[in-house]
Amino acid sequence: MKVRHICEVCDAEVLLTPDEGHEAGWDYPPKMGVFGVVSPRTCPNCSMAHTLWWAVAVDGFTVDMLTPRQVATLARIHGEPDNIVVPDIDDAPL
Ligand SMILES: [Zn+2]
Repeated sequence: MKVRHICEVCDAEVLLTPDEGHEAGWDYPPKMGVFGVVSPRTCPNCSMAHTLWWAVAVDGFTVDMLTPRQVATLARIHGEPDNIVVPDIDDAPL
């Protein structure tokens, strides 16, 4: 399978396998964190200090304190893995 790796900080997006993403330096499930559970989702260039996870876990923000970008990230995480996983053609039913 491939996963849409979407950086929640800079909006970079690439389509990679989990291994490719991990080797490229992404913090992204399923290698880092778990689909559907809030944790940093960042590209190799961005700091987790600007993530939804940091705002909630470190800064103690509640949902009403989040930016529109962070709210969108929360919604995307709740939709995982269906909204970011692209199955291999070989896995599709005949
Ligand atoms: Zn980034």
